[in-house]
Amino acid sequence: MALIVQKYGGSSVADAESIKRVAKRIVDTRRAGHDVVVAVSAMGDTTDEMLDLAHEVAPIPAPRELDMLLSSGERISMALLAMAIHSMGFEARSFTGSQAGMITDSHHGKARIVDVTPVRLREALDEGAIVIVAGFQGFNRDTRDITTLGRGGSDTTAVALAAALNADVCEIYSDVDGIYTADPRVIPRARKLEQVSSEEMLELAANGAKVLYIRAVEYARRHGVLIHARSTFSSAEGTYVLGAGMKNPRATEGEAMEEPIVAGVATDLSQAKITVAGVPDVPGKAAEIFKIVSKAGANVDMIVQNVSAASTGRTDISFTLPKADAPTTLKALAAEQSEVGFESLLHDDQIGKLSVVGAGMRTHSGVSEILFEALSAGGINIEMISTSEIRISVVLRGDDLAEAARTVHSAYGLDSEIEAVVHAGTGR
Ligand code: ASP
Ligand code: MG
Repeated sequence: MALIVQKYGGSSVADAESIKRVAKRIVDTRRAGHDVVVAVSAMGDTTDEMLDLAHEVAPIPAPRELDMLLSSGERISMALLAMAIHSMGFEARSFTGSQAGMITDSHHGKARIVDVTPVRLREALDEGAIVIVAGFQGFNRDTRDITTLGRGGSDTTAVALAAALNADVCEIYSDVDGIYTADPRVIPRARKLEQVSSEEMLELAANGAKVLYIRAVEYARRHGVLIHARSTFSSAEGTYVLGAGMKNPRATEGEAMEEPIVAGVATDLSQAKITVAGVPDVPGKAAEIFKIVSKAGANVDMIVQNVSAASTGRTDISFTLPKADAPTTLKALAAEQSEVGFESLLHDDQIGKLSVVGAGMRTHSGVSEILFEALSAGGINIEMISTSEIRISVVLRGDDLAEAARTVHSAYGLDSEIEAVVHAGTGR
């Protein structure tokens, strides 16, 4: 008998029918003799709808009240799910984040988990009940207020529960069968991975892969939680996300798993590019610029500085950042134009980022060559390049991104024979 934590995303509990399907799945796990703890998201697009509503009544909703509002979404789904399980003859008990002992800091809208004290969950498990916990929410001890963990926070709830309860596995259910070598909605020939290392998963998630949330993967890595990403719509095995020293429970004894050089290709259309043109090429200018940018609260990703033109002694500095951060950042930079002494600002929100990720890059050469050759054969222009130990990213025209991703995916030999099965809309 194992202790299994399961997380169901919004699209898995979008309506009564789906809730009943999930309830059956939970009951089946229970029938197989396991203890089950479930973290559940709000139904379908509930969170987005509540956010819209909040902005209709107030341009800038009060953060405390916004958390009160948004946390109610998960309370609806947890109670309905518990009822559905009851009606199948099994004991289920739902708990809010604070009842479950999900203790966070006090940052409304993006709270971090600081402690998990699942006393009531343990009691319920000991009494033979199936435990259902509202995802995405917690409680701060100092303010005694309800907090939320940021969009997609239910993944983190599930992983934190798995860590605190010492669960055998944390199963994260969504509408795709697992983690693919690329987003199957962009690349139909994407292949399902049997396993992926947590460091690769972090790079994929940070560069646009939406199947798992980065904070959940980080938490799992730090606390040694085994994640199994799989589909609500099929019983097929999904993908195991392995931290250091973890083994794929499905791999047969003695089977040597050769590490693929490239684990996957990620695409990201959520970034914009700002170019600060005509910056005096003297020490300290980059520091001045990025101080302004960081004060504006922007999360900078790639940075490129051109070689300065000898005739002018000036250079261009370009960087990428989330599209949503661009307007405030541009405003902040413009306000300091004469202070910094640059000539102009350019804003480009039509870019796309393509990243190739693989732990095998550390030990294999020629990985970048394949990327550049594939792009060149496809006639696709590269605008920026950045690398980490296990990743190469390029910025391209956004319109070229899907085509580029397909070309690069085949160039690395990642294409599968069959088309990937995508069950529903959003990947959550
Ligand atoms: N309901 C929240 C959201 O939509 C949390 C989650 O789904 O994980 O962001
Ligand atoms: Mg959701």
